[in-house]
Amino acid sequence: MAVLLSTRREAMADWRAALLAVDPTLEIRMFPEAGDPASIEAAVVWTAHDMAELRRYPNLRLIVSMGAGVDHLLRPPGPPPGIPVARLVDRMLTTQMGEWVLLNVLRFHRQDPDYRAQQRDRVWQELPAPVTAETPVGFLGLGELGTHAAGLLRGLGFPVLGWSRRPKQVPGVEGFHGADGLAAMAARSRILVCLLPLTPETRGLVDARLLGRLPRGAFLVNGARGGHVVDADLLAALDSGQVAGAALDVFTPEPLPPAHPYWAHPRVVMTPHAASITIPASAAPQVVENLHRARRGEALLNLVDFAAGY
Ligand code: NDP
Repeated sequence: MAVLLSTRREAMADWRAALLAVDPTLEIRMFPEAGDPASIEAAVVWTAHDMAELRRYPNLRLIVSMGAGVDHLLRPPGPPPGIPVARLVDRMLTTQMGEWVLLNVLRFHRQDPDYRAQQRDRVWQELPAPVTAETPVGFLGLGELGTHAAGLLRGLGFPVLGWSRRPKQVPGVEGFHGADGLAAMAARSRILVCLLPLTPETRGLVDARLLGRLPRGAFLVNGARGGHVVDADLLAALDSGQVAGAALDVFTPEPLPPAHPYWAHPRVVMTPHAASITIPASAAPQVVENLHRARRGEALLNLVDFAAGY
């Protein structure tokens, strides 16, 4: 039986080497060279893979996302019925995202866009001192990534708020849930960080209404998915000054077309979906562990809850 990999060709070579380093007995195939469809027992795939194609493998027993997000796997037509889907929960992914959030929260908190503009214009002008303890940071999503990044900011002395689907207690984080909780958290968030999964419930959540609830001159940091943000609403909020700046790693569509207004917007800083990049050598042990568990009929790690959508 074989494991099918599907992502960019150069990344597939890394994945292959990483999986074999954990279990040299694995037979690895690289899509589209799948060989006999009946020999595929697991598919480890990334965003470009056509999920309908996975229905060709009658003995498939496990699908693994090469990242923490699974929206690419669950959108129609979705995975073949009855096949479990696992995602990555990986220390290196979590660490990178924590760094990216920290970078951008500090960028805005320390008025870096304004100081950069002053440097460009050779202006020697001190701005008001930033007060960390008076700068609440609100997290949309308090999962693996959100909880870690929230802890980093808490450690620096920021008041940290967090919104989750279910009521949740995270040490040092004031928790919110539900529509009322979202409104209450937004009203206090000087910096709003989005680390939600993209689901039917969270798509378009960052719209004019939510942005309008933020304190005037707040900042948005989106490391989750482009689909969380209504781009026209964010651009309007940036232009009106309701939102003073946005750090965006994710977009609709990706790659972002060269003509998109975000590229040249003076109040937007962008990275090309690079906040947190999967490192196969770090992720491979849990993929192999899940494959061994699936073979033994044991409970799997990091399973996706289809009902919740993440
Ligand atoms: P988790 O599943 O661990 O956490 C998701 C969090 O979002 C949970 O706190 C969950 O609530 C909350 N949530 C989900 N749905 C809702 C809802 N309807 N209302 C309120 N809260 C909700 O995910 P991760 O932290 O591992 O990852 C988050 C996302 O980050 C991924 O799905 C992916 O899209 C994105 N990502 C982006 C990367 C990048 O490079 N830009 C890299 C990796 C991930 P609860 O706690 O109640 O379950």
